[in-house]
Amino acid sequence: MECAGKSVLIDCGLYQGGRELGEENAAPFGFDAAAIDYVLLTHAHLDHCGRLPLLARRGFRGEIIATAATCELARVVLLDAARLQEDDAENRARKAVRRGKPDLPQPLYTVLDALNTLGYFGRVAAYGQALQIAPGVRATFLDAGHILGSASIHLQLDERGHRCSVAFSGDLGNSGRPLLRDPVVPPKVDVLVMETTYGDRLHKPLQPSVEELYQAIDDTLRRGGNVVIPTFALERAQELLYYLREGVEAGRLPKGTQVFLDSPMAISATEIFRRHPECYDPETAELFREGRDPFNLPGLHLTRESSDSIALNRITGGAVILAGSGMASGGRVRHHLKHNLWRQNSGVIFVGFAARGTLARQIIDGATSVHLFGEEIPVRARLYTINGFSAHADQAELVAWQRRVGAPRTFLVHGEEEVMRQFALRLQDTVVEMPAFGQAFEL
Ligand SMILES: [Zn+2]
Repeated sequence: MECAGKSVLIDCGLYQGGRELGEENAAPFGFDAAAIDYVLLTHAHLDHCGRLPLLARRGFRGEIIATAATCELARVVLLDAARLQEDDAENRARKAVRRGKPDLPQPLYTVLDALNTLGYFGRVAAYGQALQIAPGVRATFLDAGHILGSASIHLQLDERGHRCSVAFSGDLGNSGRPLLRDPVVPPKVDVLVMETTYGDRLHKPLQPSVEELYQAIDDTLRRGGNVVIPTFALERAQELLYYLREGVEAGRLPKGTQVFLDSPMAISATEIFRRHPECYDPETAELFREGRDPFNLPGLHLTRESSDSIALNRITGGAVILAGSGMASGGRVRHHLKHNLWRQNSGVIFVGFAARGTLARQIIDGATSVHLFGEEIPVRARLYTINGFSAHADQAELVAWQRRVGAPRTFLVHGEEEVMRQFALRLQDTVVEMPAFGQAFEL
């Protein structure tokens, strides 16, 4: 966005799914990185912040502004992403050498690039308080209820007396979840730019899904097996800890349930959650005020070191293991799947979205065996797929939010094209725009 001589970028994400590290991410941005004065970051998910190190590498020297929780989470997310980029380039380089190819693949960016990027994080935005970004540009971050620190951004622009207000939704949360507040609706604006991730479908209700989770864990423990839950490190892992604690306290799960959070990133993210009670839903904030930790239960073990993670392979029953990645496309969960998928008495619980082509998708779609670390592993464990835990607003919530903002002009972004078209049909009393990549609009 350009206003009063300043260029403001909202988010700078990585393309994800399938070819996460592909050419799309290395392609030119479509704008000059050095010409950007400010980046307003809505939240710390990789598809919103994942190319900031590339932005810095290509000449960005401005200021990145986000909420306090987003700044902390983005640090963990960017360093982890950079390490994965380096590992991936190293693996591809080894293969290239074996094939006798001289030019070695380079990482999209390095840990050093990520560290440099952290130096550009500047002012911290508090929810609901307007920040004068630059003369003529005021921004207010509003709670988007999606992950810790997530925000929609309300902008008041003034260019030589010509005024315009714009709101960017960021990713909007699914209301009624226990940890975070429901999304806040910005005041009426001239222009709304909104996400459409789940613009074509409705979510299952949450409470029956929590019951299904307890049932699946209880069944598996009764059979004497382990429970493996592939999970995302941000938000989903903390939500699961919250439900597991509630389940044990309410007697829905056995008192001595042994839970292993086997993900250094999820452990760091949980610590960051503990430092930001200002982001909590009133109910969770109350727990916290009473001195109770919403994310702790008596049988919880945090396994940061890989030796501790490997030790879990020897446990043949009675453990609930939460590990990443959420789609089982990488990370420690693949080891736990290798050691548990073939056991009839174990259970694997899928609680998140699984993109096509990922290991989670293969298993959910009924593969009788899968390849893991050079071995063919038969799928004999009991499988559970629970769909009610989305961190995203569904179609009904997106439509209601859009209607309450009441913008005469709505730009749809951040969703699949077909989903966007479906969603556009639901909107009333607004001119809907579906911009093409690189298209510019005069407001
Ligand atoms: Zn997100």
